[in-house]
Amino acid sequence: MFKRKYPVLVFFMTLLLFSPSLFGAMNSMTRAIVKKGELRLFFAHPLDQKKIRHFTLPNPHREIYDFKDMRLGHSRVPLGLGNNVRIAQNNTNTVRVVIESQKPFNPTAYQPLFSKDTYHISLPKNSAYIQKDFTSNKHGYTKLQVQKTTPKRHTEVIVIDSGHGGHDSGAIAGGKREKDLVLRISRKVEKQLKKRGFPVFLTRSSDRFLKLHERTRIADRKDAKVFISIHANSIEKRKQDKMEGIETFFLQNTRDERSKRIAARENEAVLKGTDRVSKNVIIDSVLNGPKIVESNKLAIDIHKRMMANARSLYRDVKDGGVRHAPFYVLVGASRPSVLIEVGYISHPKERQRLFSAEYQNLLAKGIAEGIENYLRNRRREIDL
Ligand SMILES: [Zn+2]
Repeated sequence: MFKRKYPVLVFFMTLLLFSPSLFGAMNSMTRAIVKKGELRLFFAHPLDQKKIRHFTLPNPHREIYDFKDMRLGHSRVPLGLGNNVRIAQNNTNTVRVVIESQKPFNPTAYQPLFSKDTYHISLPKNSAYIQKDFTSNKHGYTKLQVQKTTPKRHTEVIVIDSGHGGHDSGAIAGGKREKDLVLRISRKVEKQLKKRGFPVFLTRSSDRFLKLHERTRIADRKDAKVFISIHANSIEKRKQDKMEGIETFFLQNTRDERSKRIAARENEAVLKGTDRVSKNVIIDSVLNGPKIVESNKLAIDIHKRMMANARSLYRDVKDGGVRHAPFYVLVGASRPSVLIEVGYISHPKERQRLFSAEYQNLLAKGIAEGIENYLRNRRREIDL
């Protein structure tokens, strides 16, 4: 009777009956944002709080919320909100939200009045979270399942060495000095790396001269994983319009005349006051080239990112390539070490660029990204 008279209605009623969402069998998380110190989750249907399981795990401290009968709705649920919040499809029926913090904290979790399709969880204070909504992530679903844990704070110490300083100005051209430029860039690199959670030390943070062993000593003392020496290049006047661009060096002996020349120039100041015996020791270790393979990898990563950043605004930046040369400042470094020549201050156009904060920021960002990439790959190798 019913059936015959209202076939369409029956069809819809049947549909409703088996529609999981309406009867609470399955829900989906459609969006996640961080706002006002809270993680705000959005769902396709009213959320049944009985289906939330909350527990904690130590080392590092994690607050975990499992949402049962839940799927990640679509691509707008991001991989992670900052380093401290991760959301993933834990298994077919459970979405897991992990909030990592340095110390245990008591999150407040609640459903706001009148919006049963949202859920708010307070985040630990004084943490750097990304304060914006995430845009679509094409691969959201599959990637979420294989996502790896990202530590909030990195442990790898990085030492940044600003070339020259004090009575040693380094290269001078057009009234500008290498020592000033490299200090400015080093500071920006420091800032970029700290933002990424790395402990960073500068060999000098003011205009002062350092002896060779003072430059590497800090790296040894802090057990740095990476040593970066920052310089700017220069060439005699008659060639000043010809030579320009970024060059990244790692320590190794070379037959290349150009690399030899640059090394000789940079070594001159650094070796002043070093006696013959220690010079021989230094030369010896140059030839043995510690950590050459790793340094080469590091140099490639840094160079790549520097070029990409520099060219994002200045397409004509010349690529001087990754090269190797016996730089003494890299000697004795029992860690991957790289020397960067950020550009030629003898080249009028490049000099102008190099002394602009905008270009310095691009280079600094590139260096930091390169180091970050290198260390990430290194960690992966260790994991395997
Ligand atoms: Zn220099």
